[in-house]
Amino acid sequence: MSTETAPCKGEDIQISVVVPLYNEEESLPELEAWIRRVMEANKFTYEIIFVNDGSTDHSWEVIEKLSKQNPHVRGVSFRRNYGKSPALNTGFARTRGKVVITMDADLQDSPDEIPELYRMITEDGYDLVSGYKQKRYDPLSKTIPTKLFNATARKVSGIKNLHDFNCGLKSYRSAVVKHIEVYGDMHRYIPYLAKLAGFSRIGEKVVEHRARKYGKTKFGLDRFIHGYLDLATLWFTGKFGGRPMHFFGLWGSLMFFVGFIAAIVVGCAKLYNMYHGNHYTLVTNSPYFYIALTTMILGSQMFLAGFIGELIVRNSTTRNHYEIEYEINSTK
Ligand code: UDP
Ligand code: MG
Repeated sequence: MSTETAPCKGEDIQISVVVPLYNEEESLPELEAWIRRVMEANKFTYEIIFVNDGSTDHSWEVIEKLSKQNPHVRGVSFRRNYGKSPALNTGFARTRGKVVITMDADLQDSPDEIPELYRMITEDGYDLVSGYKQKRYDPLSKTIPTKLFNATARKVSGIKNLHDFNCGLKSYRSAVVKHIEVYGDMHRYIPYLAKLAGFSRIGEKVVEHRARKYGKTKFGLDRFIHGYLDLATLWFTGKFGGRPMHFFGLWGSLMFFVGFIAAIVVGCAKLYNMYHGNHYTLVTNSPYFYIALTTMILGSQMFLAGFIGELIVRNSTTRNHYEIEYEINSTK
C-alpha cells in the first residue's frame, strides 16, 4: 500500500502500533519509515499512534510532519509529561486495529518482529505476547536487577513462562487493551494486569534488542524500587482489593485475640500470687503486659482498617464490574 492512500477505515485495520515517547525527536522518522516498510512488505492494513508524553524537544513537530507524509500516522500529545503508563493507556483507548502492538520509540525494539507477533495472536490464539530481550544491550547495572525483578514478578503473578515483563515490544488481542487500565507505573506489569482481567493465554517471543541509538534512557535506578512497590500493590489489590476485611479482619482479630489472652494470663498470674501470699509486683513490670497492650491496640487498628476498606469498596463504582466473555440469549 503506498503512502499516498487514504487512512484505512477503522473496521479494516489489522494492526495498531502504539508508540509512547518522551523526547525522541531523532528516532521518530527512522522508526516510522521502518514500521511502514514492514507493513507494506506484508500488506498489512495498519495505523501508528504516536503518544507524545509532554516532550520538551521537537518530537511533536516531527509527528505532525510524519502524519502529513503518511495518512496511517496518528498522534496525540499530552500537555505535560505524565509517564509511560498514562501514555500507553491513552494510546490503547484510541486503537482501532484487531491486534495492538506496543513499541518503544528509541529504536531499541525492531519493527521486523511485527509479523510474527501478529501471527501469534491471530493464529496461535494468544491474548498477549510479550517480547523477551534475551540478549540485551544494556549496562550490567540494569541487566542484573532486571533478572531479579523478573524472577519476583513471575513468582508473585504466577505467570511462569515470562522472562521479561517490562519489554516495550508486545502484541495484544484488541479486547485486552480495551479491558485493562494501565496507570501510575503499571506498564511493567501489563501481563499481570491482563491476567487479573481474565486474559490467561499469555505467550512470549524472543526478540532482537538493540542499543539505544539516540538520546538517553528516561528511567533511573529508582525504577526497581518503584517496580517492587507496584508489584506489592498489584498482588494485594488482586487478592484482597474487593474484600479487604478478609485480610485486615483476620489478622486484626488474631492479633487482638493473642493480646487479650496475654492480658488475662498476666492479670490471673498476679491474682493467683496475691491469693496464695506469694511475692507479686505491678503488672507493668511484666514484659507480657506490654506485648498484650501493643497487639491489642494494633489488632483493633487493623480490624478498623479492614472495616473502612469495606466501606470504600461498597461505594466504589466498579464493585460490580465483571469481565463477561460470553452470554447466551442476552436481552441487551
Ligand atoms: N517514555 C515515555 N514517557 C516517559 C518516559 C519514557 O513515553 O516519561 C517512553 C520513551 O520515550 C520510550 C519508552 O517510553 O519510547 C521507553 O523508555 P526508555 O527507552 O527510556 O526506557 P528503557 O529502554 O531504558 O527501559
Ligand atoms: Mg529504551
